[in-house]
Amino acid sequence: MNPFDQHLQAVLAERRLQHRYRQRREVSSAQGPVLTVDGRELVGFCSNDYLGLAAHPEMVDAMNAAARELGVGSGASHLVCGHSREHHELEHELAEYTGRERALLFSTGYMANLGAITALVGKGDAIWQDRLNHASMLDAGALSGARFGRFLHNDPQSLHSKMAGFTGNRQLVAVDGVFSMDGDLAPLPELAATVNDHNGWLMVDDAHGFGCLGATGAGSCEHFGLNQTDVPVMMGTLGKAIGSFGAFIAGSERLIESLIQLSRSYIYTTAMPPAVAAATRVGLRLAQTDSWRREHLDELIAHFRKGASELGYQLMGSPTPIQPIVIGADADAVALSEALRQRGFWVSAIRPPTVPEGSARLRVTLTAGHSVAQVDGLLAALKDVQP
Ligand code: PMP
Repeated sequence: MNPFDQHLQAVLAERRLQHRYRQRREVSSAQGPVLTVDGRELVGFCSNDYLGLAAHPEMVDAMNAAARELGVGSGASHLVCGHSREHHELEHELAEYTGRERALLFSTGYMANLGAITALVGKGDAIWQDRLNHASMLDAGALSGARFGRFLHNDPQSLHSKMAGFTGNRQLVAVDGVFSMDGDLAPLPELAATVNDHNGWLMVDDAHGFGCLGATGAGSCEHFGLNQTDVPVMMGTLGKAIGSFGAFIAGSERLIESLIQLSRSYIYTTAMPPAVAAATRVGLRLAQTDSWRREHLDELIAHFRKGASELGYQLMGSPTPIQPIVIGADADAVALSEALRQRGFWVSAIRPPTVPEGSARLRVTLTAGHSVAQVDGLLAALKDVQP
């Protein structure tokens, strides 16, 4: 056998043995609370479509209209000839929404994190990250060539000791605004103060806060009342609460101009289709105007938390739509997810290495598209399958 085949066969066998074999399921309906999955209807509690916008008719119409006018493909990268009017307008609207001087679109959040971090730090600099940060920031840290260290989760003191001991050039600190697998918020005011004490820059990946948190949904910075000076680099994604696809970095004029010159994942990739940008613009408007979506979501979060803890499930302290139930062993989490699926509910089991060893969990996510009755249905199923 070829050494690659041999290696891959062993890797796959090991994954199966550890109950860590990942499988995709085929969805043949639009995103929403009820999905057709492998030909069967399930009530889904695992999407990041937090505001329930992914299939909104106005977004669909905007996408159709823009595709008819502007076509499907963007044709090239932004710096060649792929930067359309729709991208341009969307960037303006993102800057306005986030209260930043400018915003820059990236094709995905993964690429935004990669592009921003590797442009800002390199050899001689430091990048400090919360140990529970998303994989895209961790990968960017490793790729940057800067000294890369991880501090204890949500612990400004742990960050302080890293920063105080560094004698090189620039120090960038990067955290998730809302942690994707725990649902908790980073203590941004304390972190911003620590970073400021050491003359560094704070970057917040607000993939799960943007659209959900803050009075107007502008995200975790708005929630804590922090501006561009406190958080010079803000990243947000458009494929979650905004219901579309893509991501952005928002910050100063100087930051954005520098990213255009330096970010390899911005420069060397095809721009998102202009029709996606057109649909996103509508999503962005709905996220701001439909405040009832955030209000309904908050009610569902409180309702779910009360019901699940009354059943004796171990929840985390999350105030966000991400409501993980910690199970522990990988096999138990998978078995529970399967038992829920048999009862008509789709909740994914998240296992290491995505979460720390021994903390496999059901990652329940709520969306504004859910009804109280659907959440009650999930709670009844959770009661039924209780170990
Ligand atoms: N950051 C965080 C915290 C995320 O959860 C995700 C997506 N799961 C990303 C970045 C990447 O965003 P995208 O899916 O747009 O690549």
